[in-house]
Amino acid sequence: MTLFDSRRRPLRDLRISVTDRCNFRCTYCMPKEIFGPDHAFLQREELLSYEEIARLARIFVAHGVEKIRLTGGEPLVRRDLDHLVVQLRAIPGLKDLTLTTNGSLLKAQARGLKDAGLERITVSLDSLDDAVFQSMNDVGVPVAVVLGGIEAAAAVGLSPIKINAVVKKGVNDHTIVDLARHFKGSGHIVRFIEFMDVGATNGWRMDHVVTGSEIVEMINAELPIEPVEANYRGEVARRWRYADGTGEIGVITSISEPFCGDCTRARLSPEGELYTCLFGVRGHDFRALLRAGKSDEEIAAFLSSVWRVRDDRYSEIRSEDTVGLRKVEMSHIGG
Ligand code: SAM
Ligand code: SF4
Ligand code: SF4
Repeated sequence: MTLFDSRRRPLRDLRISVTDRCNFRCTYCMPKEIFGPDHAFLQREELLSYEEIARLARIFVAHGVEKIRLTGGEPLVRRDLDHLVVQLRAIPGLKDLTLTTNGSLLKAQARGLKDAGLERITVSLDSLDDAVFQSMNDVGVPVAVVLGGIEAAAAVGLSPIKINAVVKKGVNDHTIVDLARHFKGSGHIVRFIEFMDVGATNGWRMDHVVTGSEIVEMINAELPIEPVEANYRGEVARRWRYADGTGEIGVITSISEPFCGDCTRARLSPEGELYTCLFGVRGHDFRALLRAGKSDEEIAAFLSSVWRVRDDRYSEIRSEDTVGLRKVEMSHIGG
């Protein structure tokens, strides 16, 4: 049974954040001044167990979810993630199971994840220039480590791989053409993401944003590209293909061209709060129901009550006032 929200948008995608921890401190996501040694991360007993996550996922799939993406924080820092993948893969009706990672721990885990049933993977990589990349991840991890992870994932067949690059003005925008060129012809798809005002700690300002059309212009000047139709309704990235037929790129324009009208995504936090928008201020507590011994029917009824009244369209109504709200952090609920 498919659930529709108050704007007739179906529930189709579920993003599951398995941890709020990360081994990177990307300046646009987990700035060190806020996420320092004293930061209070969730304790183990606060996190949903893999069994609890899989149970919720089954209920969500029975109510229209077709695609699940695992994210974080950094999902590969949570122990035995492949055990969760096995449980999710076994859910009848789930069409697509994927994961977003910073790639630093991928080399060691790619084979296990593939064998567990993961189909595809997205790896974040903001620049091929070591100085730029290290200034962005802020923990000194070199580009070669992430490229090694991408290679390992491709070797076990977790492909085509998507490469996510957040573009921040004056930080890495001068390196995006190189990034596109490197993966051109590889079969992997680089997706350039406008720097977003997620959370409340990354000091976002409009003048840090390089818009999608500026990104397209920069790439087109050196590597000619032309627009392509979306694969399906609600696809987040605008697609562009190389005129010489050597592949495509995507551009995610949450700031300059919002896509709330087609947004079919729900997000589950590591402690079981459901957010109906990436820019949500408040979640809905599913863990309380799980741990109070509620039945699947009772949990489904709660899901239905949450989704049916959903009215979110943050990116369409973004303003000076909304930017300053105390929104949930990206590192908490994932991209
Ligand atoms: N740690 C994993 C990773 O980096 O791929 C998964 C979680 S991360 C929060 C998911 C995605 O969100 C990454 O591709 C990251 O670049 C993106 N992201 C984080 N903060 C962002 C921001 N302020 N604007 C745009 N994208 C952002
Ligand atoms: Fe970690 Fe991903 Fe956020 Fe970077 S973007 S700090 S890798 S969660
Ligand atoms: Fe969906 Fe919220 Fe993003 Fe709009 S702002 S596309 S409703 S997550």
